[in-house]
Amino acid sequence: MKMHNFSSGPSILPPEVLQKASEAVLNFNNSGLSLIEISHRDTSFVEIMNSARSLALELLNLQGKGYSALLLQGGASLEFVRVANNLMKVDGKAGYLNTGNWANNAKNDAAYFGEVIEVASSKDKNYSYIPKNILVPNDLDYLHITSNNTIYGTQFKEFPETDIPLVCDMSSDIFSRNLDFSKFDLIYACAQKNAGTSGVNLIVVKDELLDKTNRSIPNIMNYKKHIERESMYNTPSVFSVYVSYLTMKWLKDLGGITAAERRNNAKANLMYSEIDRNSLFYGTAAIEDRSTMNATFFLKDENQTKAFDELCSSEGIYGVKGHRVFGGYRASMYNALPITSVQKFVEVMQYFETRYM
Ligand SMILES: *Cc1c(COP(=O)(O)O)cnc(C)c1O
Repeated sequence: MKMHNFSSGPSILPPEVLQKASEAVLNFNNSGLSLIEISHRDTSFVEIMNSARSLALELLNLQGKGYSALLLQGGASLEFVRVANNLMKVDGKAGYLNTGNWANNAKNDAAYFGEVIEVASSKDKNYSYIPKNILVPNDLDYLHITSNNTIYGTQFKEFPETDIPLVCDMSSDIFSRNLDFSKFDLIYACAQKNAGTSGVNLIVVKDELLDKTNRSIPNIMNYKKHIERESMYNTPSVFSVYVSYLTMKWLKDLGGITAAERRNNAKANLMYSEIDRNSLFYGTAAIEDRSTMNATFFLKDENQTKAFDELCSSEGIYGVKGHRVFGGYRASMYNALPITSVQKFVEVMQYFETRYM
C-alpha cells in the first residue's frame, strides 16, 4: 500500500532522493565502490560536500554576502550548546524566546555558559501562540529564536526588529518559505525534517559574527575551526551529507524556496480548512501563528481516538500522532510531502466524521 508519510522527523524524502541515495550506497558514481566505504577526502566526496555547502547558501540567497555554510554532526541539540559556546562572552548575556520545548532546551543548555534571559515566552498558554511586540534588551550577545515550533505547530511570521545578532533554529522550516535570510546572523537546522536525513546539521553563519568571544572553545565546538577546515575537521557523516545534497538539489530543480512555499501554503490551507470545518476535531495553535509545516489538532471526544487511529492506519496514513509531551494529532507537511497525501488525509477525516458524528 502507498503510505502517506506525515512523520515529524526523520520525515518524508522525495522518491528520487531515496533512489539516488540507495544507488550511491551500492555503487557510487559507477566507481565500483559504495559511498559509505570510501574516504571522505576522496575528491568525489569533497565535491559533494562543497556543492552541498554552496547549494545551501544559494537556496537561502546568501551567496557572496559574507556567510559560510557548514554541515556538521550532532543534531540540532548540539547546536544549542555550540551556539552559546561560540557567541556568549565570559560575563556576557544571551536572550531566548521561549516558544516551545526545543526553544526551552536551547535556553537551558545556553545557561551552562552564562546568564540567559527569557525575553518572551508563550508558556502561559502551553505554547499555543507566538509572543508579539517583543522588546529586545540592547545588551545581549545574541537573541535566539525558534522559527517553527515543531511540537506545538506555531511559527513566527514576523521576527523581532533589533540590532542584536539574531540566531535562529530553523530545524523544522528551513527551505520551506521565503524570508530575508540576511536578517539572521546564524541559522541552524538539523537535516531530518526538511533538508535530508538525521546525522547532519546545516549551519549558516555570518563570518563577522565569529571570533568575538573571549572564552576558549574546544575545536569540535568551534565554528571558525570548522569553516577553516571546510566541514572536514573530523570525519563528516558522509551518507547524511549526500542525502542533504540530493535534497537541496531536488529543491533547486523544483524551483527553489519560492516553489516550495507555494506548495506548502496550498497543503497547509487544505489541512487547516478541514481541521476548522470538521465537527469532530479542533486546532490548538492561534490561527495567525499556525505553522505551515506542522498542523496540531485534537479530537473533541477522546474516546474516538482508537477508532480514528485504526482508520488512519488502514488507509495508509502514517505518523500523525502528536508529540508525546503534547498529545493529540500532528500532521507534518514538509517540502517533500505531496499535496495528494494531504488530500487523502482530509478524505479520511471527512469519512470519519460521517461515521462518528
Ligand atoms: C527536531 C528539532 C530539534 C532537535 O533536533 P535533534 O536533531 O533531535 O537534536 C531542535 N529544534 C527544533 C525546532 C526541532 O524541530
